[in-house]
Amino acid sequence: MEQGLLTVDLGAVVRNWRRLCERHAPGAVAAVVKADGYGLGAVPVAQALHAAGCAHFFVAHPAEGEAVRDAIGPLPMVAVLNGFAPGAHPRLTPVLNSLDDLRAHAGGEGLLHLDTGMSRLGLDASELDALAADPTPMAALRLRYVMTHLACADEASHILNGLQAERFATACARLPTLPRSLANSSGLFLGAQFVSDLARPGCALYGINPIPGQPNPMEAVVRLEVPILQLRDIPAGATVGYGAGWTAARPTRIATVALGYADGWLRAQSGQGFGVLHGQRAPLVGRVSMDLTTYDVTDIPAAQVGETVEVLGPAQDADAVAALAGTIGYEVLTSLGARYTRRYL
Ligand code: PLP
Repeated sequence: MEQGLLTVDLGAVVRNWRRLCERHAPGAVAAVVKADGYGLGAVPVAQALHAAGCAHFFVAHPAEGEAVRDAIGPLPMVAVLNGFAPGAHPRLTPVLNSLDDLRAHAGGEGLLHLDTGMSRLGLDASELDALAADPTPMAALRLRYVMTHLACADEASHILNGLQAERFATACARLPTLPRSLANSSGLFLGAQFVSDLARPGCALYGINPIPGQPNPMEAVVRLEVPILQLRDIPAGATVGYGAGWTAARPTRIATVALGYADGWLRAQSGQGFGVLHGQRAPLVGRVSMDLTTYDVTDIPAAQVGETVEVLGPAQDADAVAALAGTIGYEVLTSLGARYTRRYL
């Protein structure tokens, strides 16, 4: 193997989705497959989930939606969170993020997005007032759901969670009745107030822990193995990599692997974490560079050139890598690069 191998366990994605359906309600759990299925492949993920019975998909961009639509046929809803111009994508369902969007899409369909605390997209309080006073724009549309998005669902005790749920309920009560869509992955673990007609989990499907700080209830989905290109013995005192960022304290064997920040192996985790080979952990040493990363394999004498080091998997998952790099598992997964060979189980 000359380049990394990214293995995505679609069976695990489906089992994660089923687990979320059990928590919420059958038929009421969509799949968020934006950003190419959080970097893991929107088309294979959507195909697997559609075959398992998932009937609602969310993407961010219309081009992502078209690809998903081609892959899963005409029936499931494919909603585009960022919206699109009226008439531009007849096979997709726009999320309508403003009163102007509602008017522009008159005669069509969509999801009505209310902003209850995120302050990004969606009708704000004044637009909601206007719509409650005159719901005519809603009558001219086939609105499939009214939705809002939680800002702090991964912090269970955050005051904004309850506030958003209340604001959403109050707003919905002021409008003609529609099915509601509320929780993301973490929202599914917040309790009965967050149950709706359609949850929209993303990260949990891909094995990211929706309840940070607690044991991860989701199954691992991703494994990344990268090949050793060279082994090098260096004396004590020799330095490794750019900036001479690491100094060997003893005679050391360095394994250089085909993995770098151009592959999404974030430079911020330089000198941290480990790779697994022969069932043992080899510490990452020195800086992560564009195409290469170095591991100390002194204590793994059986290591050979051409063998693979597992850098992402059950022993060190995306959340763990993210913690080292000071980011979130979402960024780790969506950064994983195009140079890897992909294998779907
Ligand atoms: N709904 C909306 C509007 C989103 O933007 C996202 C992702 O950011 C999700 C649902 C899924 O969120 P998560 O991946 O945290 O489950």
